[in-house]
Amino acid sequence: MIEHSEGNVVMIDTDDMLVCGYCGIEEVYMEDCDCSEEVITYFDFKERIVEETMGNKDEYHRILDGGRC
Ligand SMILES: [Zn+2]
Repeated sequence: MIEHSEGNVVMIDTDDMLVCGYCGIEEVYMEDCDCSEEVITYFDFKERIVEETMGNKDEYHRILDGGRC
């Protein structure tokens, strides 16, 4: 994990974060999403979306931004 807490910029490596395997919402907010998907890491989620969108960057970013919930 990379964390810079000095100054105004806080950058955290989110790849280890646990998210909903369908919409990518963070695990802590999953009671708000209706999907009954497994919880996976954000890294695995991104891999999954890369395969699903097959190079469609607009669709990729739309889903990563929570476009499915
Ligand atoms: Zn979900």
